[in-house]
Amino acid sequence: MDYKTEIKKLAKEKNAIILAHNYQNDEIQDIADITGDSLELARVAANNDAEIIVFCGVHFMAESASILSPTKKVLLPDKDAGCPMADMADKDELVALKKKYPNAKVVTYINSTAEVKAESDVICTSSNAKKIVERIDSDQIIFVPDKNLGNFVKQSSNKDIILWDGYCPSHDRFTIEKLNETKKNHPNVFVMVHPECNKEVVAEADAVFSTGEMVKFAKETDLKEIIVGTEIGMVYKLKTVAPHINFIPSSTDFICPNMKKINLKKLYNSLLYEETVIKVDPSVMEKSNMALKKMLELSY
Ligand code: 13P
Ligand code: SF4
Repeated sequence: MDYKTEIKKLAKEKNAIILAHNYQNDEIQDIADITGDSLELARVAANNDAEIIVFCGVHFMAESASILSPTKKVLLPDKDAGCPMADMADKDELVALKKKYPNAKVVTYINSTAEVKAESDVICTSSNAKKIVERIDSDQIIFVPDKNLGNFVKQSSNKDIILWDGYCPSHDRFTIEKLNETKKNHPNVFVMVHPECNKEVVAEADAVFSTGEMVKFAKETDLKEIIVGTEIGMVYKLKTVAPHINFIPSSTDFICPNMKKINLKKLYNSLLYEETVIKVDPSVMEKSNMALKKMLELSY
């Protein structure tokens, strides 16, 4: 079957929009209406005319789209595409931490469950985390769940930031030893990494960017070669926007297995059978919506 043609046809018939994260398989990036980072995709999810949103990404992304667009049907083409970092923050533990620090405001990374978002004052993504922490009206912040992104924010903030102990297992596998090995093979090449990388890697990089910021930088720079310190799918995305640059993957095993679960066949079936529908428990809908809307309001 010519999946590409059939997907386009079905999407048109059903008034569906296909969103894809920058780490998705090449074929999914090619067919999506919009590709982007978490913030860009959340913005589109909050503001579009489609009846169906097919979210090619991981569960928390589809869930956030459903929170921001409650009247639309949100589909995730593989129901098992989760994010292990999102599962590292537990609602009850967060409630207990809030009791310990009653004056703190909770800034939660979008890579989290709806239950945890509902216990948060505001959400952030890697694009706007610094801005959100500075703009939220408290000098004490509980930052959930990514300790690496939290540490990166801490470097340029005077606020008292209490870190959760979560991390991304895919970014965690990218060690300083692997980065140094890549740099040895490509001396003097500019290195950009994602803030989910650990402290040592971040300290060694020339720039620390969200995936959306990497795209923007690639479009504007005069550099001819760049080492890309994040999930391998990003290299494909960058080549599409700046084909004249030689993008060097920082490590060939830098893969998020969950991001790679969706393929054209699953996307086609998802649209055809309208599954898996991602719904949010009504008890957390209002509060998680408020925290996400607060992020959109503060990330001007
Ligand atoms: P971005 O918002 O930078 O695309 O990051 C999302 C993510 O899950 C990175 O692992
Ligand atoms: Fe989650 Fe890491 Fe995969 Fe991003 S790359 S979706 S943080 S596991």
